Amino acid sequence: MLDLAIIGGGPAGLTAGLYASRGGLQNVTMFEKGMPGGQITGSSEIENYPGVSEVMSGLDMMQNWPEQCMRFGMKHSMEEVSRVSKRDDGTFEISMLGDKMVEAKSVIVCTGSTPRRSGIKGEDKFFGRGVSTCATCDGFFYKDKEVAVLGGGDTALEEALYLANICSKVHLVHRRDEFRASPVTVKKVKENKKIELILNSVIDEIYGDNSGVNGVKISDKQGNKRDLAVPGIFVFVGMNVNNEVLMQEDGKPLCDLGSNGNVVVDLKMKTSVAGLFGAGDLRIDASKQVVCAAGDGATAGIQALEYVND
Ligand code: FAD
Ligand code: NAP
Repeated sequence: MLDLAIIGGGPAGLTAGLYASRGGLQNVTMFEKGMPGGQITGSSEIENYPGVSEVMSGLDMMQNWPEQCMRFGMKHSMEEVSRVSKRDDGTFEISMLGDKMVEAKSVIVCTGSTPRRSGIKGEDKFFGRGVSTCATCDGFFYKDKEVAVLGGGDTALEEALYLANICSKVHLVHRRDEFRASPVTVKKVKENKKIELILNSVIDEIYGDNSGVNGVKISDKQGNKRDLAVPGIFVFVGMNVNNEVLMQEDGKPLCDLGSNGNVVVDLKMKTSVAGLFGAGDLRIDASKQVVCAAGDGATAGIQALEYVND
């Protein structure tokens, strides 16, 4: 039986593993369905992690984190967890795709969040064929071409700036005339000559043919219509909480969830279920920053250690 199962290998999960294994827990396994590192690995640049003065890509930033954890004994299992449930004896069952199951004395869930789809006509049809949620992954396909970006948060604006370095022009479409993104990023976007702001506007349709996207149809609040002939559209309209692993056979969550599906935790990252902790972007009131997710992970790792030792 594992002392601790960590579900998710982003900044929260990796830091939880570091603190729990370095603190003396013997059997710590982190289950991560993809490569460890989390959603920041899809970001072109990060410049606000304390102590790291140069701007680096998310991939570079996370490169050494898994090795550091494993040096202290944490194991990494490349598996997708389908459910976490609790037995009557107080231990946990971690079920994985393909009918595999392991037992654990404690669990930290840090499955983060994933990009939300906008629901625009044509988005699903052309996803991966002109519609993308990752500028770092797909931006280069549009070198010296015009693209559209949808959204007004930090992700949309930062990725618009990244795309402006590669593409000939970036049309940033946002449904309001104010942005959620931080003022410093908004300033950079407004000063960038390659970014055209299309505000108070929505995308009605993404259209194309067998070879992919040919353009987007836009309308503004006055009802004026516009057609943008772009081969690529990047959608950054927020994130969904990855709480599926907590859903039980009866459809109810294992622990208390907030109104948006975020996991309710206290200041020690304890959920409503003893031995089950939540950390990072999936918890309530998360600041959604790498440093905060890492801080949550450290707290959860220390608390799991205490729980198991008790
Ligand atoms: P995540 O990073 O989401 O990691 C969760 C992990 O769990 C993933 O690796 C996922 O594969 C795994 N997982 C999910 N479900 C399962 C399952 N069922 N089984 C196994 N594994 C599973 N923050 C900053 O501080 N600075 C920035 O500049 C910045 N830029 C960003 C740019 C972009 C484009 C995005 C999307 C986010 C950015 N953020 C930034 C936010 C930051 O990335 C997140 O706050 C942080 O990654 C959250 O970490 P986490 O560990 O909670 O979750
Ligand atoms: P977000 O802050 O939720 O912003 C989503 C944006 O998409 C909003 O501007 C929203 O418009 C718009 N939107 C939502 N649904 C839409 C729809 N159906 N059609 C059109 N537009 C739609 O999401 P995010 O930018 O992905 O950021 C997520 C979190 O990560 C945030 O907390 C953010 O601060 C953090 N993050 C931080 C950094 C950083 O620190 N550098 C970088 C990236 C992300 P409205 O504004 O009108 O609601």
